[in-house]
Amino acid sequence: MRPDTILELPCYVAGKAVHSETKLTVRCPYDGCPVGTVSTVTSVEVDKAIEAALAPAVPLTRYERSTILDRARQMLEERREEFALLISSEAGLCLRETRYEIGRASDVLRFAAIEALRDDGQIFSCDISPQGKARKIFTLREPLSLVLAITPFNHPLNQVAHKVAPAIAAGTPIILKPSAKTPLTAIRFAELLYEAGLPGRMLSVLLGPGEEVAERLVKDPRIDLVTFTGGERVGKHIASTAGYKRLVLELGGNDPLIVLDDADLDLAAHLAAEGSFRNSGQRCTAVKRILVEQPVLEEFTKRFVEKAKNYRCGDPFDPETVVGTVIDEASATYLQTVLDEAVAAGAQVLLGGQREGALFPPTVITNVPRDARMIVSESFGPLAPIIAVRDLADAIAVANSTAYGLSSGVVTTNMNRAIEAVKGLRVGTVNINEVPGYRIENSPFGGIKDSGLGIKEGVVEAIKCMTTVKTFSLPW
Ligand code: NAP
Repeated sequence: MRPDTILELPCYVAGKAVHSETKLTVRCPYDGCPVGTVSTVTSVEVDKAIEAALAPAVPLTRYERSTILDRARQMLEERREEFALLISSEAGLCLRETRYEIGRASDVLRFAAIEALRDDGQIFSCDISPQGKARKIFTLREPLSLVLAITPFNHPLNQVAHKVAPAIAAGTPIILKPSAKTPLTAIRFAELLYEAGLPGRMLSVLLGPGEEVAERLVKDPRIDLVTFTGGERVGKHIASTAGYKRLVLELGGNDPLIVLDDADLDLAAHLAAEGSFRNSGQRCTAVKRILVEQPVLEEFTKRFVEKAKNYRCGDPFDPETVVGTVIDEASATYLQTVLDEAVAAGAQVLLGGQREGALFPPTVITNVPRDARMIVSESFGPLAPIIAVRDLADAIAVANSTAYGLSSGVVTTNMNRAIEAVKGLRVGTVNINEVPGYRIENSPFGGIKDSGLGIKEGVVEAIKCMTTVKTFSLPW
């Protein structure tokens, strides 16, 4: 199943492949075997990419943008297995997850192709007030000159698609700096877009030393917008160095799943397992804390542990595996550390808990102190800590007590309590009887507090961020 060739990929400056002597090697987190290399670039190519993106060019029509996106979607679907295998190879995620990710990225392309065709103008009649007159004001959206996208490792294709596809739909040139941990999928995706007809000047993909590439791009005044998805630390650093430009920051999360005493407990156990363990727990919106009302704590815990036993962890290429590795051994070691700390403070491990290389098995922990590191900060892996809460007010207080505010899930059969939770949780999303991560690719998505500035992504909102509104008025 696993690809046997080692890829040798270039970076791309405005569609032109750049091969260099300096290579980045990507290894499979499961067995350490090399998966591929990428030729890295320097500040010279960074400047060339900016200049090429800003050079005068005939803009693509809406029809052309939509056609490119739709063709790319078709090509991605035809090459679904190849892309899924590549993500599994460089990220260690199991094939169940990476096949799912291709479907999501394909939706991103589909929705972006639709949005590209949609007229986004509004009309305001001016004779609607005593101060008005017989005129009309029209709006139109114009593409930004240049966008920089910086993406994380955890969804190597979908995170990239969520930035590049809206840029294409908007007609905005984009420079992509993908994660150095998972660059191969991003580069293969860029090649697919060029093949689908995307003009080279619309997309560059650059990797190289941080100071010469990412940092330099962030600070460059010719870039109108930095759209960043990744950790809070890097996001805040970008905010402090970017200067006068637009910023979209999609940062970390510490999402709660709240299980109330009126919940369907089988559903709650299912959502807790899916939310905690899918994508090896490496989703910004993974369930990172399970807050359970005291009367159902024992029964919920029993059913959850039973459910969690089905999440077999192992070789990402084995069709039976549902939890592959985390991104690398260092991440697994960190998870082990925060787990051991919690145990030392009185927590009990009910399932899992012992890493092996970069494999970290689904782990259920109970009696976790509310101030444990795995509770107050983001742990990016399949850890499922359970905390008892007195009532909904206590659950909301604990949920809101961390620095993050990305998403949340609440399991209840009581509509009034659902509404109270929607109103009380300080987050970007509340999903009732769903995992925090549930969304469709064109709905607004994004967090508040340390999870982001509250500026949403999702195909529709991302297109808005990548454009500016111009108004013009006419006598009418
Ligand atoms: P990360 O360490 O913050 O890295 C993200 C990206 O930033 C990478 O491409 C990285 O490049 C780049 N980068 C590092 N230092 C930089 C600098 N000084 N200036 C500019 N760019 C820099 O995040 P990660 O570990 O890849 O991803 C996991 C994090 O992403 C988690 O916290 C997760 O919650 C978050 N996330 C958030 C969302 C959301 O929508 N809110 C979605 C997914 C993930 P290198 O790889 O070259 O270091």
